[in-house]
Amino acid sequence: MKTLFRVAIDGPGGAGKSTIAKRVAKILNIIYIDTGAMYRAAAYKIKKEIPHISELDLNLINDSEEYKQIKEIIEKMDIDFKDGLIRVDGEIVEDKIRTPEISMLASGISKLPIVRIYLGDIQKKIASDNNVVMDGRDIGTNIIKDAELKIYLTASLKVRAKRRYDELKEKGKIENFNEILEDIRKRDFQDQARELNPLKKAEDAIELDTTNMNIEEVVNFIIREAEKIKRNKIN
Ligand code: C5P
Repeated sequence: MKTLFRVAIDGPGGAGKSTIAKRVAKILNIIYIDTGAMYRAAAYKIKKEIPHISELDLNLINDSEEYKQIKEIIEKMDIDFKDGLIRVDGEIVEDKIRTPEISMLASGISKLPIVRIYLGDIQKKIASDNNVVMDGRDIGTNIIKDAELKIYLTASLKVRAKRRYDELKEKGKIENFNEILEDIRKRDFQDQARELNPLKKAEDAIELDTTNMNIEEVVNFIIREAEKIKRNKIN
């Protein structure tokens, strides 16, 4: 059996997970899977096919016509990460899925069992036979329960909102800072309160508060932990 090395990185919105996970994967020379992008891509596709859907409707839709429609959309959808760019049914959606509207809708649809189970199965399949760095909300608690290294990244709400604001600004999108902060607060609450696979720290995860750390320091910390584990495996 192949010996695997899998790093699970979880935490609330704006904690820097994707930037850090991407760099860690590059240094370790293993693949990186952004599971948040998968939920965002699903939200994008659902919005495209059911334009009237709003994040609020999702609290009430069990057994409704929309629920059946969402099930069909999800089951037909083809997501792939060729060349590090996320595609849905062949369309590159990288930029289209990073808007505040899609963030909220992604959080809304991620409560639905049909969505979680479908995307979760794809993620579990990838992690079952690849060395991988995977980031999200339930990687250490659900997708890769036996990951060799689990990290739970946090930072103060204000710092996380500022990071998201700067990220959007860099892409030429000026948003209102307070709205971003409120969106993150709401999304965290929703992600922590959902019934199925809520956001929480796995018992065996290392928690790292990055409020006063830069990207370099966080990446170095994770690489040091990864090397410790690799050394222990060999000895
Ligand atoms: O990480 P990102 O902010 O891109 O994730 C968007 C949304 O997708 C999150 O707010 C969360 O609701 C959902 N998500 C999830 N489980 C994951 C990854 C993301 O529920 N493993």
